[in-house]
Amino acid sequence: MVVSRFAPSPTGYLHLGNARTAIFSYLFAKHHRGKFILRVEDTDRERSTKEFEEMLLEDLKWLGIEWDEFYRQSERFDIYREYAEKLVQSRHAYPCFCTVEELEEERKKAEEKGVPYRYSGKCRALSKEEVEEFKRQGKPYTIRFRVPDGRVVVFQDLIKGHIAINVDDFGDFVIVRSDGTPTYNFVVVVDDALMGVTHVVRGEDHIPNTPKQILIYEALGFEVPKFAHLPVILGEDRSKLSKRHGAVSVRNYREEGYLSPALFNFLCLLGWSPPEEGREIFSKKELIDLFTLEGVNSAPAVFNKEKLRWMNGVYIREVLSLDRLVEEFMPFLEKAGYKADKDFVRKVLEKTRDSFETLTEGVERLKPFFVQEVSYSEEAMAVLENEPSRRVLELFLQKVQEGDINAQRVKEIAKEIQKELNLKAKEIWHALRACLTGELEGIGVDIMCDVLPKERVLHRVIKALEILG
Ligand code: GLU
Repeated sequence: MVVSRFAPSPTGYLHLGNARTAIFSYLFAKHHRGKFILRVEDTDRERSTKEFEEMLLEDLKWLGIEWDEFYRQSERFDIYREYAEKLVQSRHAYPCFCTVEELEEERKKAEEKGVPYRYSGKCRALSKEEVEEFKRQGKPYTIRFRVPDGRVVVFQDLIKGHIAINVDDFGDFVIVRSDGTPTYNFVVVVDDALMGVTHVVRGEDHIPNTPKQILIYEALGFEVPKFAHLPVILGEDRSKLSKRHGAVSVRNYREEGYLSPALFNFLCLLGWSPPEEGREIFSKKELIDLFTLEGVNSAPAVFNKEKLRWMNGVYIREVLSLDRLVEEFMPFLEKAGYKADKDFVRKVLEKTRDSFETLTEGVERLKPFFVQEVSYSEEAMAVLENEPSRRVLELFLQKVQEGDINAQRVKEIAKEIQKELNLKAKEIWHALRACLTGELEGIGVDIMCDVLPKERVLHRVIKALEILG
């Protein structure tokens, strides 16, 4: 069975790049009807927080990623200790008593010589008795992995292809720090092996770690999994996508009113090409069916926010059911301080869902439907104060009071007013729009009249006439 995992560190918000890693790893497992594991890598006790972990899980759930198993590394220290001990027993690792100062000295010397630093291996040669003696004295020590000399580690990456790395320059690296906490390269191997992970899908920034991990797999007698390293995501300026490029966390986008299936769809296309060229809108189920690692491009993907906006607009306009759109829209409306019942919101969105691309933009644009009292822009006020407007509104008021109001009726009324007052069509529509929406642009008068109940239309006309005195 295929087993893949996502292994985030809870040290910040879920970054778009990590979200894409999670999605690819998840899709890969689900495509093969395998298991997907979420493992929180919180061994760095200083940078990891419970709050970040909670937000991470929430954001993943929001994105639609479900996991079959869940682990937290901070709860597994006993297991790591056991395996570190095994490595020491089998002489693949050894305690190192070098002090910070001694190591600093080594580093300086390397620098002076202009050669890359690697640990000298001084403590490799300590005898059992020396080790016991140092421990008795209470000297602090780390545990280092003994890197074999003259070894080139080779692996076949499922995305990047053949990779060969000479491990000679690594030096014996630390697997347990002097405070007893294990390091990433060590715990990741113990966990992936014990959790039965068959495919490690992660960012390409981990390629340099992979040979160290392979050495540990071998030393512990574990089967080495397959690796698939995903290319980085770049900003439009071709540098690695980061905060400098604006919003980069899933949470930012969620708060801006992007929809989870749209973001999921968009992130999938960031570096993965579907078999069917030209098509861009896919449901999660379709993506599970179609996703393969062969379809992942080995070159970096470029993040294009305009495209994400466009795609979100497609989801708002066409993909989501109206009911679901209403559900998504309500919290944004409430957050902006408006009260409206669902039936009314449904009516509004039915007519306007093609006019905005994010939910926050939608709330802003559709404000005139939800405000109790219209506030007029300067331009709208100027139009209202212009002479024909008052006569237009008086006549409009009378006609609406006499009958119904809707998109069809307002067009007829406008024609009648135009004839009776001998005005240009534009003068009438401008006056009505200024009165009903407070703006000269944005939502059309016909849609306003279609959706707003008659008494609210009347209220707005009376209010405008009052202001005009
Ligand atoms: N905790 C590591 C990270 O967030 C996981 C790397 C891995 O997937 O092995 O980068």
